[in-house]
Amino acid sequence: MSIAVGGFEPLTSIDYPDHLACVVFTQGCPWRCGYCHNHDLIPASKQSLFDWDDILSFIKSRQGLLDAVVFSGGEPCLQNKLLEAMAQVKALGFKVGLHTGGAYPARFAACLKFVDWVGFDVKHFPMDYEQVTKTPNSGEKAWESLEMLLHANVAHQLRITRHPELMSQEQLDRLKRLLYQTYQEELVVQTCNTAHCLDEKLRIV
Ligand code: SF4
Repeated sequence: MSIAVGGFEPLTSIDYPDHLACVVFTQGCPWRCGYCHNHDLIPASKQSLFDWDDILSFIKSRQGLLDAVVFSGGEPCLQNKLLEAMAQVKALGFKVGLHTGGAYPARFAACLKFVDWVGFDVKHFPMDYEQVTKTPNSGEKAWESLEMLLHANVAHQLRITRHPELMSQEQLDRLKRLLYQTYQEELVVQTCNTAHCLDEKLRIV
């Protein structure tokens, strides 16, 4: 079995800073964020739409044209074969990017040996994660992964998607201050796609 892939973007300049990349969207996520707009990628049991070997052949054909391959999701660290896939991409000479929420600290720790850049999605303060993810203990796991990232020598960006019903502006400001004062880290705020929220009650059109 290879990684399960639910989507593929052959060319992007915005998913890995200052690099031309393709993006592999893995299938499956353990969380149920109310504002998730990629809900087709949530079910882990859904059949992979793409064959990893076909994608790898495409990636090989882009040697010299693309700089990096980004694994996004869903939650890429859900995939048992993620490390193998990263190693294959690396062996072809590409940089490896990873978008993650940090739901699987052990696999994330192993990934840190392969990745060149991580886009880490912070959801909330650890104790408030469940409000966003609807998943118990998600905050502990996410912040364990976050701590690992901040102590690893890996380029990264911390970003957050704020839905006004799930996080107040005051909470966001406090979280930004915490990350800056404790780790000297900036938190980039991403636009929330409120028209397509998983939770219909959160939809704003
Ligand atoms: S927004 Fe939440 S539920 Fe949706 S893919 Fe990301 S982590 Fe999973």
